[in-house]
Amino acid sequence: MDSLTIKGIREGLKGRRFSAKELSDFYFKKIEKEDSELGCYLELAKETALNQADKIDNLISEGLDIPSLAGVPVAVKDNILVEGLKSTASSFMLKNYISPYDASCVKRIKEEGAVVLGKTNLDEFAMGSSTENSAFKTTKNPKDKSRVPGGSSGGSAAAVSAGLCCCALGSDTGGSIRQPASFCGVFGLKPTYGAVSRYGLIAFASSLDQIGPLAKNAEDAKILFNAIKGKDKKDSTSIEMEENGEIDFKKLKIGIPKEYFGSEAKKGIEREVVSAIESAIKKIEDMGGRVEEISLPNTKYALSVYYMVSTCEASCNLARYDGIKYGLSEKGENLSEVYFNTRAKGFGAEVKRRIMLGTFALSSGYYDAYYLKSQKVRTGIKEDFEKSFKKVDAIFTPVSPTVAFKIGEKTQDPLSMYLSDIFTISANLAGIPALSVPLKTKGLPVGLQILGNYFEESKLFQIAKLLE
Ligand code: GLN
Repeated sequence: MDSLTIKGIREGLKGRRFSAKELSDFYFKKIEKEDSELGCYLELAKETALNQADKIDNLISEGLDIPSLAGVPVAVKDNILVEGLKSTASSFMLKNYISPYDASCVKRIKEEGAVVLGKTNLDEFAMGSSTENSAFKTTKNPKDKSRVPGGSSGGSAAAVSAGLCCCALGSDTGGSIRQPASFCGVFGLKPTYGAVSRYGLIAFASSLDQIGPLAKNAEDAKILFNAIKGKDKKDSTSIEMEENGEIDFKKLKIGIPKEYFGSEAKKGIEREVVSAIESAIKKIEDMGGRVEEISLPNTKYALSVYYMVSTCEASCNLARYDGIKYGLSEKGENLSEVYFNTRAKGFGAEVKRRIMLGTFALSSGYYDAYYLKSQKVRTGIKEDFEKSFKKVDAIFTPVSPTVAFKIGEKTQDPLSMYLSDIFTISANLAGIPALSVPLKTKGLPVGLQILGNYFEESKLFQIAKLLE
């Protein structure tokens, strides 16, 4: 049952081979057995899940139509609000915070009949690339338990990979859906900025954050994405999008940016990653597609721009955790002491590092030199992509320069951790969609990143299907 796709579940339910309740029970039993070792989940939602499953079973027994995600067991990253469950964002600051409402994407999947199994582990406030920054536990990579699952949506990616849910929701500010998808061998989409409502997502960097699906195959990722996308009155940056037409594979043109995968760039990428990506490129050529080298000259600034913009926005977004409004509240002699004591105790080292960086860069006298300048370079990065998509349909790059690294390998060296985002952050800065597709390898999983033009997610899914 744990290998069933959304389509498989639908057929099984309709054909009465199993009930939604049996399916949920199966998953909870599997989680109880296996998750103490893997550490994907922070909290389970047995009661509400079984209620939802009952509703679906009633629809079926009455012979009524069932919605697109009927009975599908979904895991939700713990920085996305699910009413009545805790949303900790893996921080001590929100250790006991209970969500008063559903995030818009959660509301939508529930309306489509999904069964929310529980909340998954992440790096604290989604800051990190390994899920080791969680205040509560370290998630292990199901493909090799001595390695990280990637991050920050490591719990969601590992849960899909281990069959502890059918599919999952994650969030991606600089690669947090795609990189864990790549490390765990599953599909992950960072949608176009504005495609999915951010209402009910605990904000990290609001101009970069997007919620997206993690799934076992391209079709499931597409179905889950279709359920959550679209205009939402509660997020003014969200918009309605149209389906793209079928692509003509004979005319397909793929760009390979030399800054990511030219002969010089390949020297910094692990061998197994290079060979897996090269095979994917060859497959496209064998099917009659054209592949050409392109240039995205502003790539060299992307990492610096990202760590400037994201920390500035994070320092503002995290100002709300002051001991008064939400979560942890420490005692103090006066109001500032309450603030200081709460923030000193509630936030972990990585979150503090980013708040300090962002606060410094936004301080008077430095704003123009750091934040404003970064925003200008960000426009250059966006224009690089806009120019390229006049010439090619999609762009291929690796998701990460390495396969999953060992637990503990990078925790003492934040800069080397930041460098693992080198290929994923540009898509967030530009706002374009990007899909991580697992490739066949002999060893650990390798992800291919397919980048597309604004709102061309369905093109990305079609190309991914071709490679499956
Ligand atoms: N790893 C990146 C960071 O640490 C991306 C995080 C994310 O996408 N949420 O900021």
